[in-house]
Amino acid sequence: MKINIAQLRQAIGARQSFTFHSPVEKVAGDEKNFWLHGDIEVSGEVVNNGRLLAVTGTIGGVASLVCTRCLEGFIRPVTIPFGQTYREDDGQADPDAIDFHGDEIDLAEPVREALIMAEPLKALCREDCRGLCPRCGVNRNETPCACGSDDIDPRLAALAKLLPPQ
Ligand SMILES: [Zn+2]
Ligand SMILES: [Zn+2]
Repeated sequence: MKINIAQLRQAIGARQSFTFHSPVEKVAGDEKNFWLHGDIEVSGEVVNNGRLLAVTGTIGGVASLVCTRCLEGFIRPVTIPFGQTYREDDGQADPDAIDFHGDEIDLAEPVREALIMAEPLKALCREDCRGLCPRCGVNRNETPCACGSDDIDPRLAALAKLLPPQ
């Protein structure tokens, strides 16, 4: 994910946009990102602020999520923002910036960090998900049941499924 900034560097205030596509495993290389799969699209803009180059962008991908109400898996597009400052290497340490030399900056590190830091969303498979029945444990999106609708944490309902009937 290298960007040639030779032209950008010629004028303070100049902007340059970028777009990359890559398999998520190639970028993240980390099993923590099992909830994202397939290709990601990294896009955004670099702004020349003089000695500093500011990158802002987003990582778009497809997430595998688990519905917090019915516990079914589903997939959904997600967008993860990221940003990074690059500083022309002048021998001074700057903990907030990545040093660069020459006419290239590499986005691999900030993109990897943003992917690793991003938490899977708490999500519903659909707005009107009916969830698991707290009594009998069926997925009420798929199977109607005659238990009524007491509100119990669906995670408890999932556990109740594992217990022998009383
Ligand atoms: Zn659901
Ligand atoms: Zn039921």
